[in-house]
Amino acid sequence: MAMSVEKFKAISPAEFFYRNKEIAGFSNPARALYQSVRELVENALDATDAHGILPDIEIRIDRDKVKTYVYRISVKDNGIGIPPQYVPEAFGKVLFSSKYVLRQTRGMFGLGAKMVVLYGQMTVGEPVEVITSPIGSRRIYAFKIMIDIKENKPVILHRASWPKNSDWHGTFVKVAIEGDWGRAKSRIIEYIRRTAIVTPYANITFRTPDGDVYIYRRVTKNMPPPPRETKPHPHGVDLEMLRMMLRSTNAKTLLDFLVMEFQGVGKVTAERFLSRYGFDPGKDPRTLSQAEIEALYKALREYNEFRAPRSDHLSPIGAELIKIGLQAILQPEFVEAVTRKPVVYEGHPIIVEVGIAFGGAIQPSETPILFRYANKIPLLYDEKTDVAWKVITENIDWSYYGVQFPAPLAILVHICGTKIPYKGVGKESVADVPVIESEIENGVRHVARALKTYLIKKRKEEELQKKAITLVKYIPEIARSLAVFVSKPNPATNGVTQELLESKLFELVKMKIGELPKGISSVRDVVLSVE
Ligand code: ADP
Ligand code: MG
Repeated sequence: MAMSVEKFKAISPAEFFYRNKEIAGFSNPARALYQSVRELVENALDATDAHGILPDIEIRIDRDKVKTYVYRISVKDNGIGIPPQYVPEAFGKVLFSSKYVLRQTRGMFGLGAKMVVLYGQMTVGEPVEVITSPIGSRRIYAFKIMIDIKENKPVILHRASWPKNSDWHGTFVKVAIEGDWGRAKSRIIEYIRRTAIVTPYANITFRTPDGDVYIYRRVTKNMPPPPRETKPHPHGVDLEMLRMMLRSTNAKTLLDFLVMEFQGVGKVTAERFLSRYGFDPGKDPRTLSQAEIEALYKALREYNEFRAPRSDHLSPIGAELIKIGLQAILQPEFVEAVTRKPVVYEGHPIIVEVGIAFGGAIQPSETPILFRYANKIPLLYDEKTDVAWKVITENIDWSYYGVQFPAPLAILVHICGTKIPYKGVGKESVADVPVIESEIENGVRHVARALKTYLIKKRKEEELQKKAITLVKYIPEIARSLAVFVSKPNPATNGVTQELLESKLFELVKMKIGELPKGISSVRDVVLSVE
């Protein structure tokens, strides 16, 4: 019997994603078009708001006149730009990123831009075009780049630079891919609308292949404070990470290692911790044996007197901005929002924010309209499997809050953290981890209570107004009888006409009731509205 011989070989990260593009969300031309816009827009936003710059972002998709399956996507921002020496790898080497630090950004995998370039290369074959000017630079740099998939490295086809005579800084990226605008259209438009809801401090314009232009104008100059970079929390490292940290540290002793490499560990805490578990504080961290590293890892996990993880490397949107965003885009009659306190999930802090919008221009529907976000990225796919969907449709009894469906109700849920338990590799839905589920539920209950109070007050006012109308309705009749009664026999009351009595009685009702319904400023208005 002939034996077949297995052939072994390794592939590069670029080749891996070339073969498995579905993993990164590029499963078909429609999804790829959506994902490409998303990746480029998220890079543009990371380059602006995460650095304290009010974003001006222009997105454009053009359909090729001849090859109609070809779309050219371009995104221009006013961000920090990219230093020219990094441009080729930023767009031509998979898993090259400036975001591999503990700090909340939209991207953090070093993949997005390259995936767009790879997909474009597979389907159309044109290089990506990048024009950039870093903040503070006096020049503009232009590149045309493709990816050497086998080697996972950039191939620079064109490079140029020229002096800058404006004060623009930022980045322009243009790439051609095979897409399907017809099938991606509604999602892309919705993605941009939802992005605008949580970035009311941005100017965003979007020109579609059909020539339609969507403009979201900045409605506030307030931005969430940029997230800061932080060190890991002792509960947030795994065995391998600890091993790498021990290998690369500059600390000379175990004591210094703990103080220098972890957040919230002071000298006193470190000493107490080391003596509790019997470690030698003076030991060189590079000389720990395998068994000692494992013991240290277990001890770090177990010790519960470390300070809770900090959360200033997170960037919540803030209740005020959520309200502004919901108000500007949905134009509801009521909005409320809350930013919850940080909680800890596997050693990483997570902050949940919830917004609610009711009435006004919102169309009534059978279930609440849900806007989900993770680290400010709108999540559009797999809604029904998301923990937030479970909370608002299963955990909450809306009738308790005075809402009867169909109702014009929208709920916004934002989860931010450096570790988010996504379901599956698509990163479109969040798993129902208990601590996150209860945070969302508490947040929803908080804003729903505010809605309930509002609805009760509104109903009271409406009832009062109904009463007022009933009262006012009788004024003409009463006034007529009174006029007959007072004016005829007594000449002194001459001049007391029915009209005068009507208006006096009307004033009386107004005093009793307070505000009358809009459009009612005299008895006549009521008589007319009743007829
Ligand atoms: P990630 O966003 O996960 O880091 P990307 O492949 O999307 O990965 O981008 C790689 C790197 O290129 C980013 O980390 C960033 O440093 C840089 N970059 C990409 N787009 C821009 C942009 N519009 N402005 C500034 N830097 C950018
Ligand atoms: Mg990115």
